[in-house]
Amino acid sequence: MIKFHPSEQQLVEYVAGDLSAAMLITVGTHIDMCPHCQGHVQDIEEQLSQRLFGDPMAAPASWSANLDMMVDAIIKSPAPAHRSLDDSDNYLFLEGKRFELPATLARNYHRIGSWHKMLGKMWRAPVNLGSDEVLNFIYMGSGAQVPEHTHKGHEATLVINGVFVDETDEYRDGDFVLLDGSHKHTPQTQQEDCLTLATLDAPLHFTSGLSRLLNPFSSLFFK
Ligand SMILES: [Zn+2]
Repeated sequence: MIKFHPSEQQLVEYVAGDLSAAMLITVGTHIDMCPHCQGHVQDIEEQLSQRLFGDPMAAPASWSANLDMMVDAIIKSPAPAHRSLDDSDNYLFLEGKRFELPATLARNYHRIGSWHKMLGKMWRAPVNLGSDEVLNFIYMGSGAQVPEHTHKGHEATLVINGVFVDETDEYRDGDFVLLDGSHKHTPQTQQEDCLTLATLDAPLHFTSGLSRLLNPFSSLFFK
């Protein structure tokens, strides 16, 4: 059961194509995983088309089906023409495990870079958006911890598979967490591992005052 969803405003911006490419993919992937938000997006599409066309049937079959076009338009590096998905695009392989990718990520498989091992039991693979935007897969093995930090901008994290905890709560498959400067937290895994998709719009600030020692972590999130 998914506990954390994008805001109403983010869903409206998703439908309208007003999100950044990184957020479009992150929110779109959540919607793939969340029947509740799928219903909500459908309502928003109907309201929007009613307002624009006065007739809900006049709208394109699904606005969000245009996601690929929106992402390509934003990042100006179109997917290879006439490219079709093959089965391997549906999975990520790491540490002997196989993770099934939701449809939005499978369609963007060609943007996923290679895995790099970070400190401890953490791995990172960038999603190349051809811009300054930062979107990464972060994999935490069991018993891994990111040092406590706050956020200067926003950090959106979507759990693809597994579970992580912080001081506030527990986050599982499909949970979408948006944090800003008012939050301070120490994400960690316990018995289970966790694969997440994370986007940041400003650097992390490590509250321990050990920024220099923790520098390797900044490359967790920045290219
Ligand atoms: Zn949802």
